[in-house]
Amino acid sequence: MKLFRCQSCANILYFENRSCQRCGHRLAYLPEAADLSAVEPAGLNNEWTPLAAPESRSFFCTNAGHDACNWLVPPGSTDAFCLACRHNGIIPDISQGDNLTYWREMEFAKHRLFYALLRWTLPLTTRAEDPEHGLVFNFLADPPEEGKKAMTGHENGVITIALVEANPAEREKRRHAMGEPYRTLLGHFRHEVGHHYWDVLVRDAGKLDACRALFGDDAQDYGEALKRHHDGGAPADWQENFVSAYATMHPWEDFAETWAHYLHIVDTLEMASAFGLQVQPLLDADGELAAKIDFDPYAAESMQTIIDAWLPFVFAMNSVNRAMGETDLYPFVLAPPVMAKLGFIHDLVHGRV
Ligand SMILES: [Zn+2]
Ligand SMILES: [Zn+2]
Repeated sequence: MKLFRCQSCANILYFENRSCQRCGHRLAYLPEAADLSAVEPAGLNNEWTPLAAPESRSFFCTNAGHDACNWLVPPGSTDAFCLACRHNGIIPDISQGDNLTYWREMEFAKHRLFYALLRWTLPLTTRAEDPEHGLVFNFLADPPEEGKKAMTGHENGVITIALVEANPAEREKRRHAMGEPYRTLLGHFRHEVGHHYWDVLVRDAGKLDACRALFGDDAQDYGEALKRHHDGGAPADWQENFVSAYATMHPWEDFAETWAHYLHIVDTLEMASAFGLQVQPLLDADGELAAKIDFDPYAAESMQTIIDAWLPFVFAMNSVNRAMGETDLYPFVLAPPVMAKLGFIHDLVHGRV
């Protein structure tokens, strides 16, 4: 994620900010410019002009009316929704209970996902454009029947996220029950969209053989793999080949988990780069643990460049978190086979497989 500044007063802003705390300007994200901009009313019709693009004018996404989005629709478009919200399918009944609060949390995570997808200009088709495989998100509340639960998952471009995952207490309960070191809404979005991009960039793009060489044969029965994983768990030595225990379940899950990690790593490193972070531990004699993060990870040539910056950065940030009594920022180990899989995702995202 980039670091944004108010064009009016130079105040530092977060991606989710709705208005500038210093000068009071309303703020909008402009996906085509990958910039957050102060905006001013452009006369009639509810149109706004971004200070970052003074020649253009456009409307806020309809979801801004629920404070669930701060993006403008592309200039000249008559769409009611922005580039991120036009992929929404089912949204919860926001008149009920905490649903509005939970949906907003979902949207924070979803918009961060779309930031990355748009930075790489990955293919994005809506369900209206492609009724068979277009990307659509359904945010499902648990059904009223006793014992029934909405399930998070992906099928043919339809991504379902259980709304209850936006409840921090419930999410932590599930994280603990599943024995996971990390569980976030953003992680769910990055993982599930990984399944979608396996369909688009691997299966439908003739890259199955190259993918199977690293992730294994995805033709094996998914239902049996799921049962095996639930009954017996991950192999004892899983850390030598997989980024997470769940990734051992089936090559599809390995791909989605590794995809999610690639997005975690690139976006987090971009944030570190925006602050010019530098890691120089004094005790490291050969300099291997030093890193200056001064490149754009979204445009990095090789995965090795990213890894070389990521490992020292993570060691530093985990240490910082531990000093605060928190869990590690990145509670994972990247073994060489995992780095090779990340390299495949890197090449795939950049169209080089
Ligand atoms: Zn300002
Ligand atoms: Zn929107």
